[in-house]
Amino acid sequence: MTAKSHQPAHSNVFLQSARQKEPEAAAQQKGGVAKTHFITLTVPVEGWLAPLTEAPDPVFAEAMMGDGVLIDPIDGKLVSPCAGVIASLPETLHAVTVRAENGAEILMHVGIETVSLKGRGFAAHVREGDRVRQGDLLLSFDLDILALHAVSLQTPVVVTNGEIFRIVNRAEPGRVNSGDAIMTVEAVEEKAVARREAETSGGYVSQASRTVSVLLANGLHARPAARLANEAKKFKAHAFIEKESKRVSARSPVALMTLGVRHGDAVTVDCEGPDAAATVAALADAIASGLGEKIIPATADPSRRIAVADGRADIPAPVALDGSAILSGVSASPGLVIGPATRVQRVEIDVCEHGVGRTAELRALHDALATVRARLRDSASAGSGAQGEILNAHLELVDDESLLDAARAYVDQGKSAAFAWRAATKAQITALKALHDPLLAERADDLADLENQVLSILSGSDAAAGQADMADAIVVAEELYPSQFLRLAAAGITGICLTGGGPTSHVSILASEKGVPALVAADRRVLSIPNGTEVILDADRRRLHVSPAADTVARVRQSLEQKKKAMAAARERSQTPCATRDGARIEILANLGGEQGAAAAVALGAEGCGLLRTEFLYLGRATPPDEEEQLSAYQLIADALGGRPLIVRTLDIGGDKPAPFVTAQAEENPALGLRGVRLTLQRRDLLETQLRAIMRLRTASPVQIMLPMVSALDEIIQVSGLLQAIAADIGRREVPPLGVMIETPASAVAADILARRAEFFSIGTNDLAQYVLAMDRGNTDLAARIDSLHPAVLRMIKMTASAGAMSGRQVGVCGSLASDPVAAPLLIGLGVTKLSATPRRVPIIKEVIRTVTIEDCRAAADRVLDLASAEEVREFSVSAWPHLETWL
Ligand code: PEP
Ligand code: MG
Repeated sequence: MTAKSHQPAHSNVFLQSARQKEPEAAAQQKGGVAKTHFITLTVPVEGWLAPLTEAPDPVFAEAMMGDGVLIDPIDGKLVSPCAGVIASLPETLHAVTVRAENGAEILMHVGIETVSLKGRGFAAHVREGDRVRQGDLLLSFDLDILALHAVSLQTPVVVTNGEIFRIVNRAEPGRVNSGDAIMTVEAVEEKAVARREAETSGGYVSQASRTVSVLLANGLHARPAARLANEAKKFKAHAFIEKESKRVSARSPVALMTLGVRHGDAVTVDCEGPDAAATVAALADAIASGLGEKIIPATADPSRRIAVADGRADIPAPVALDGSAILSGVSASPGLVIGPATRVQRVEIDVCEHGVGRTAELRALHDALATVRARLRDSASAGSGAQGEILNAHLELVDDESLLDAARAYVDQGKSAAFAWRAATKAQITALKALHDPLLAERADDLADLENQVLSILSGSDAAAGQADMADAIVVAEELYPSQFLRLAAAGITGICLTGGGPTSHVSILASEKGVPALVAADRRVLSIPNGTEVILDADRRRLHVSPAADTVARVRQSLEQKKKAMAAARERSQTPCATRDGARIEILANLGGEQGAAAAVALGAEGCGLLRTEFLYLGRATPPDEEEQLSAYQLIADALGGRPLIVRTLDIGGDKPAPFVTAQAEENPALGLRGVRLTLQRRDLLETQLRAIMRLRTASPVQIMLPMVSALDEIIQVSGLLQAIAADIGRREVPPLGVMIETPASAVAADILARRAEFFSIGTNDLAQYVLAMDRGNTDLAARIDSLHPAVLRMIKMTASAGAMSGRQVGVCGSLASDPVAAPLLIGLGVTKLSATPRRVPIIKEVIRTVTIEDCRAAADRVLDLASAEEVREFSVSAWPHLETWL
């Protein structure tokens, strides 16, 4: 969301050079050939012109569909940029192609991802085959509907048959008005075209065909058509796609669109040429695998088909709950509580579309934003850690120029402040969600939260002004905004159970920071629990017990009481160093993710920081922190640790944690992409600045450096070389110990090799489980199954620990398994001697270790390596040490 600066129009420059070209064009039309070599296209829609590379869709930005320009429309009318014939107009009316008199095909695709509107908001004024003049009205569209539902309003205008035509002149970026010229299109020499055609025919002909079902959610619309055409152009054979009796060239995206292929249709790929069989196989496979689009399996039931396409099919209707029931969910914040279920709903605030005048509406909008800004500042400074970071991110959104510009533009069109704010935020939300990136989706939720906060002030229904007493309530909801959660937490709720969300969502992070037990992705039947019904929220066992029997309630209350006492005892002993009953010393440290929290961790008994996630300094900002900023942030943490050890992890960014200043290519598979040390080794500037800052720390704390996402010895060698060079440069005689995180199967299996240069290991069980189990850690559907106690993950831990023992390298765990009381004895049994847990869990983990013997732990670890599942491992651990129940 960068602020967009529009340049003034330079159409004059364009017209001059276009005129200069025209005589040449005439000269080329020797012998009175009817074909016009040059045509000048005029503005099809008024707005702001930008280079095509700025399109928020690679199919357009990378000119797969053809070369051209991008126009951000300010008017809902699309007119013909030249005289010609309507070559394609899909049923969804979101794009139209005009074939100019010289054969150039000009596609105008109104907005991005507008195919999914299925014609909503569009009206056509022409039909396929109609002859049109330059300036004739082709389509009208509702800008508001598009702004609310489309990824972007930006409208690519491209020449799709670029093999025969090329753009020789185009207007400068800036405002373009009706009648302005936007580009000149030249027909390339016909001889060259003929030669290319002769080449592709290859002199002999073979033929092959295959019929395939199209399972693309929105059929063969512009984007997949462009991809298919691109694929077809890689082969010599000429490929055709047939639907029913219509047959078109597979090399023409426009022709493909004219087939009107929809989800579930069958098409035949038919090829003629020397490599016909290979072409058919490639194109049919490309169609079958979805051409990069969402695939919806075919189904016999047409009503279901529609529901799936709308994205609603997999949501079961709530089932009435009138008796006792146990419903499941995913644990997002541990704990066990009893209380009355209280339903909280996100209410869509009604807004009035039309404003009462520009000045009044702008003032209302700015006042509402100022109120929200002030509130956010207060809560951000009152809250520590995650709360501060999340609310600071919201503050940035309040000040986002592009959002404000978009809202102001709506007010300029006569809309109310509330309508304008909603339209501006919704457009960004849709754009972010369409990127299918969990972190950006998180930003979309932040925006939705902000939208709601501003609208509630503008509409006078200001929810933040007061919150009914919710003491002891267990909130049941589909989703909560972070701000809503903070208000509810302040009002005294004891737990939350959401049908949406994921364990890494902002609400989950806040709940865990505030110690409010939370279940997310819960069974949708929770939504039909009547208000006031007694429920037991057991986030540790991932379940919500509705209307439990009286004796169950009594038992749970008793165990809560015991837990409270045990917790108090654990806190009292938390400052004593930790060893097993038979004297094996185990260090318990804390994971930190920001400047705040170090002192609190020490107060909870942490013996140092075993993992400083330095991303807190980098995420959500346009430029990386410089050396001085980093130095002072790390210095604060080191000082708060008061001489205790500090392990600083180098920047673990990239993949699913993108930062605007890292211009990595979009990755098909970010989890397997350029992240962690792989990225920082490419961006040496970032790595060097960070290493220099760490090495300049002046502290009594022993500082160590740890590399994330290591998979090869060479990565450690490279960083080590850099450390030596920096040490020489800043006049330090020694470099801090350099260790690695064991997060990839490669690093676990080859830990003995890494030990040649790594001075310690710290196992990141979150990522290790993701990669060993091949389960995306951000995927809510898999959240219940991605359990790091899976025996396959434990075997990797065992291999690492053995390699550490053989090479004299200390092995710790800093992933979330280190915070799990059921896992801790097993980890030390496997050979781990250091655990870095979330600060709140430090006293508990210390207490657990004190109650076990290393001998029992080793015996248990041996047994669990042969069990079949994480569940069996959990059961085994609790049966071996029944007192662990206290902490569940
Ligand atoms: C891990 O992967 O276990 C880990 C500690 O790193 P992060 O959770 O920050 O990716
Ligand atoms: Mg990790």
